[in-house]
Amino acid sequence: MKPELQTESLKELQNALTHLEKQTLPIQTRAALHNAKNRLDQFSRSFQQESEQGRLAALYHVSQSLGISLNIDEVLTQVMDAVIQLTGAERGFITLVHPESGELNLRAARNIQQETLKQNNLQASHTVIKSVIESGRGIITTDAQDDPRFARQESVIFYALRSIMCAPLRAQNRVIGVIYVDNRAQSGIFRPDDLDLLDTFAGQAAIAIENAQLYTQTDQALAARVAELETLSHIDQQLNTRLDVERVLEIARYWAVQESGAESGWAALIAEDSDNLSLISIPQGDVSIPEHPELLAAIRENPTPMQIPPKDGQPAQYIVPLIHTKHIIGALAVIHPHGFSTTSQEFLKRLADRTAAVVENARLYQAVEYANEAKSQFISIVTHELRIPLTSIKGYNDLLRQKIVGEVNEQQLSFLNVIGNNVERMSALISDLSDISRIERGKIHLDYNYFVLRERVAETLTSLSHKIAEKRHTLHTEIPDDLPQVYADPIRVVQILTNLLSNAWKYTPEGGTIRTKAYAQDGMVHIEISDTGLGISEEDQSQLFTQFFRSEAPQVREQTGWGLGLSVTQRMVEIMHGEIGFQSQLEKGSTFWFTLPTQEYNAEHRYI
Ligand code: ADP
Repeated sequence: MKPELQTESLKELQNALTHLEKQTLPIQTRAALHNAKNRLDQFSRSFQQESEQGRLAALYHVSQSLGISLNIDEVLTQVMDAVIQLTGAERGFITLVHPESGELNLRAARNIQQETLKQNNLQASHTVIKSVIESGRGIITTDAQDDPRFARQESVIFYALRSIMCAPLRAQNRVIGVIYVDNRAQSGIFRPDDLDLLDTFAGQAAIAIENAQLYTQTDQALAARVAELETLSHIDQQLNTRLDVERVLEIARYWAVQESGAESGWAALIAEDSDNLSLISIPQGDVSIPEHPELLAAIRENPTPMQIPPKDGQPAQYIVPLIHTKHIIGALAVIHPHGFSTTSQEFLKRLADRTAAVVENARLYQAVEYANEAKSQFISIVTHELRIPLTSIKGYNDLLRQKIVGEVNEQQLSFLNVIGNNVERMSALISDLSDISRIERGKIHLDYNYFVLRERVAETLTSLSHKIAEKRHTLHTEIPDDLPQVYADPIRVVQILTNLLSNAWKYTPEGGTIRTKAYAQDGMVHIEISDTGLGISEEDQSQLFTQFFRSEAPQVREQTGWGLGLSVTQRMVEIMHGEIGFQSQLEKGSTFWFTLPTQEYNAEHRYI
């Protein structure tokens, strides 16, 4: 028998004895009756104490198991089962209040057999639940049908509810929901002190529920944030590999639509020359940007994301301005019949920030490209214009020097030689400049061929031989006979060899050694030119190959040069699919090396 039923029976017995005591009875019977009544009172008191202790022990036991799990559904079921076990209710519900909307959500519904209730068995008294949430105080009714507070309520009549008990779930002074238990068939199932018990238990349950809720929220929020960061990093990669404005906007528009669940979207930039939005991309469907001047004015007035609600059959739009260093450079928008969630809006704002930065980079890149193009064009024109007069100066100077047009004295000859040397310097400069400009404009023409490298090295050394003899340099050449042919432009290879060997000659004092070595490796021929000359300081090494760089060292400055040879050489080698590098030690000497392919290079960047 349940403790409450036993209490009832004891009470009935006590009442019967009190009633008998009042009757006229023989003295012995009265004494026996008195005795019996005393013993019954004693028993009743100890029984009550015991059952109270039992309930407290049960409460202690279930409370201990609360809070072990952080899974919200598990916690709710655990709480519900414990409450039914403690109160002897038939069924129980937990309803939680949504923290923002205040909506009530039925989260757990269990019966005495510890089963989850089916949909058709979820009727509870809404009046009771609402009034507990509003007042924050528990409610108990031993027979709702007879209780003037509830008897007339629809759910009470309709679902024939009798014993109902409901306690608030209170966490940090806020009612986060209720625990509701009932019994539809029997009245008087709950005693008034059962509500105290449910209240005490609800206090602990509320903390466990709130912990689990917070944990789930943080867990979900974290997972969502991680997923968003992964997407954004993927988008960043895509955005940053494109330095063309239209493509950047296209990518941004694609991801905006994709991640916000929009039907379509658009991305637009404010045209630099006019004060208007210029549409860059229109995706799926028939999307039109709202009237440009009005939209632009609206974005300018309030440069924050704009939510245009659906109206007259028109879908909702969410428009985020693209802002770079406080300047509005355009807008990104998504379109959907109903609108966008806060999460989508936050995502779009982050996407817009990135897009604005990348668009700006792409614009800067384009500007640099235009400037480079302009510079290359300028150099090309200037070199062309200079070459014509220089050729005629050189021609007349040679005629004079060769005394073809008449005698010249010693002094005149030495002046003519100075003119000749300077003309040569200037033509070397013009030739380097025009090579750089052609390479930059992609206009360099190369005549590829298979050829024997050794012959080209010999040809280059011959052209430099008188200079080498002047400085009494020792020459060493190590080129194996069976070296594979190289596939490159032979004239350009001679130009490369001339540049590197001239440098070795220029920057190696008299009596030094210049070595030329070649060998084949991994489908390439390696060519090394080493000298025992000045070497290059570590500081200078970092600037080598930069246009117009020349060491400040006085021995370097004694030599003629423009600091363009290495830069041209590097570009030539790379265009012919080779590599270039060097090792150098100050006052010990330098080794410059480069590689050339031994086979044709195909479009997929593999040797065939
Ligand atoms: P230039 O020789 O006309 O100055 P380069 O571009 O060929 O221009 O070389 C750039 C600079 O690199 C030189 O001024 C010199 O300081 C350094 N350099 C190049 N080759 C050597 C070398 N073999 N030994 C020492 N320094 C060198």
